[in-house]
Amino acid sequence: MSLTHSKSKHGEGRECVITRRACFSSSHRYWLPEKSPKENIALFGKCSIAPGHGHNYELVVSMGGELDAYGMVLNLSDVKHSIKDKVTEPLDFRFLNDVWPEFDITQEKGILPTTEALVSIIWNRLKDDLPLTSLRLYESPTLWADYYGKKMEALLTIQTHFNAAHRLAKDDISLSENKKIYGKCARVNGHGHNYFLDVTVRGEIDPRTGMICDLPSLQKIINDFVVEPLDHTFLNKDIEYFKTCVPTCENIALYISDILSDPIKKIGANLNKIKLQESPNNAAEIYLEQSNSNSLQINLEKKIFTQV
Ligand SMILES: [Zn+2]
Ligand SMILES: [Zn+2]
Repeated sequence: MSLTHSKSKHGEGRECVITRRACFSSSHRYWLPEKSPKENIALFGKCSIAPGHGHNYELVVSMGGELDAYGMVLNLSDVKHSIKDKVTEPLDFRFLNDVWPEFDITQEKGILPTTEALVSIIWNRLKDDLPLTSLRLYESPTLWADYYGKKMEALLTIQTHFNAAHRLAKDDISLSENKKIYGKCARVNGHGHNYFLDVTVRGEIDPRTGMICDLPSLQKIINDFVVEPLDHTFLNKDIEYFKTCVPTCENIALYISDILSDPIKKIGANLNKIKLQESPNNAAEIYLEQSNSNSLQINLEKKIFTQV
């Protein structure tokens, strides 16, 4: 593109992804009529309790396209109205199981309104109105689903946290060399962080339970393999692996991704991404399935991330 062209037309014709956020509050209940009360309780835990419970959902709609002569991908007023008419107005202050026929579990094709099932059905209802690139639906600040329009495939993320101390230093170099490389992090008695850990799994949404994998099992795996062993430890001394490996944020994230991969596979999902936030200014992300991720989204996330 020539300079004159870009000057006269500014951004017109160039591609951009925009996002629009919308909120709604709804209730739901996980209960399948073909299962006994005992089976329902075993499968869905507290989510099976009648008459249900509610969430303040947050939906982030990403849309892509070329800028028009007015400097916009889409007219935001049209975007706002589509999301309101198709999603927030029908769902807000409603019992999800009763709102849309997709959630009618008395029918053979009915699916439970889990976060991942709900985000895929929202996609179907918005896709003819908006040039969607991805949808993210937060059920709470610590549980959300991403959907990219790939049939029954979705991503589910659980956020958890643990506190640990560490010291960044290599055994085979001097203290002054370590201080040159790691700065204050090389001080001999260590220091601590409140770590936030996001674990993202990818899988197929079950057409009946609406789940990528059994959520309590996933939570138990993260707790048993990561949170319990690492929480309130001095990583360099208490965790065998870090006696010989410097526990940088990157190395801890890699260690977590290595120990979670197999157990997550055993419950029928794939570990897609690990994000470890060490402080508000510092985080590490490990992408385990690069080809399945939306590369543009990743690039945008990285750009935002480096600005923090
Ligand atoms: Zn719920
Ligand atoms: Zn540190």
